[in-house]
Amino acid sequence: MVLAQSEQAGAETAADPLSAARRQIIDGARFSSASDEVVQLLLQPARVYEVAIPVRRDDGSLEVFTGYRAQHCDVLGPAKGGIRFHPAVNVDEVKALAMWMTIKCALTDLPYGGGKGGVVCDPGSLSPGELERLSRGYVRALAPHIGPDRDIPAPDVGTSAQVMAWMVDEYAQITGSFEPAAFTGKPLELGGIPGRAEATGLGIFFAGREALHDLGRSVPGTTVAVQGFGKVGSYAARYFAQGGARVVAVSDVFGAVYNPDGLDIEQLRLHVDRTGTVKGFAGGREIERDQLLLLPVDVLVPAALEGQIHAGNAGAIQARLVVEGANGPTTVEADEILAARGITVVPDILANAGGVIVSYFEWAMNRSRLSWTAEEVQRRLEAKMKTVYAEVADRARRINQPLRPAAYGVAIDRLAGAMRARGWVK
Ligand code: GLU
Repeated sequence: MVLAQSEQAGAETAADPLSAARRQIIDGARFSSASDEVVQLLLQPARVYEVAIPVRRDDGSLEVFTGYRAQHCDVLGPAKGGIRFHPAVNVDEVKALAMWMTIKCALTDLPYGGGKGGVVCDPGSLSPGELERLSRGYVRALAPHIGPDRDIPAPDVGTSAQVMAWMVDEYAQITGSFEPAAFTGKPLELGGIPGRAEATGLGIFFAGREALHDLGRSVPGTTVAVQGFGKVGSYAARYFAQGGARVVAVSDVFGAVYNPDGLDIEQLRLHVDRTGTVKGFAGGREIERDQLLLLPVDVLVPAALEGQIHAGNAGAIQARLVVEGANGPTTVEADEILAARGITVVPDILANAGGVIVSYFEWAMNRSRLSWTAEEVQRRLEAKMKTVYAEVADRARRINQPLRPAAYGVAIDRLAGAMRARGWVK
């Protein structure tokens, strides 16, 4: 019943993130021991808050921003997930992103549920002062609903360690106690963990490396294209290059650069630090942004936003392996096309889990008042990514399905076990 209804809903608008997330849960649950009741509980968030955030602009005017926080499912622990500052943020996107966090945390066996927040804004058009007031305003509006045992935000698209620092400070001013474990992705000076900034990109590299091994390949000599050169893509590119791959193309919102002999990623990072974009980099030639996805490479890393690989371009993708750095970069239709063409997709909930895994280390470190070294963080991240990848690949082989439904099956089994134990479902 739930299945039939939702499949219909999904079929109408499967290109939007919320329908995609629902479809993926329904499809994945078929490869788990979960009952229909579990699926029913997973198809909508437990809670969604919508808040108005008044901000005094530098010119003296008042602007009221809209903010959201979705807490999707807390059966395994407090909600966990980033806060996105982006003009395209909307309630359905936040819900979808929170659903993916639930699945990601369950898959990686972290003691968390899924959450996600967002503010409809263009952070690039805000001065540092305005950004600070907006970050603090977000916490003022949502403080009663967050906390180390309730909901632990982190950075996402458009937010940074500095934004987390303002949020921790605001939270301390409101509650009267300094609670670094209420936020992760903080600066080192404020209880941040070494390696958090690099963690998502490094995790993508580990996941890609494992998947390449399964395909009988290895990182040295493989060619890679990376869509997005922000907090995720720039580090993924760096680690692939360090591992001996040739990163031949990189794009950002402004444009794309290509060099079939491989881009010098460290030089490119310096260029981006100087100019704010990959465009104009002397070590490659300019290509159309959309062309990046269609290049003849071994590995494609979409590390920008949702819905980038869709029914209109999936048929022309030449990569052998897609490693999803962004959340939801492949639509449901595109996923089917890629599978039919024999292209392996390492799904977002596995490929980009390095971020939340190291967030968990940060939270655990804050709570225990111990400190971890960068080497320890890397070693534990690598071990975790390898374990989770192996579990998913093993399930995929057993059910003879792609990695995504296998990963959902593993995650939903864990969620179902906790729901049954807590008496939520039969
Ligand atoms: N925003 C990241 C994600 O989508 C990290 C979330 C976190 O660290 O809590 O996985």
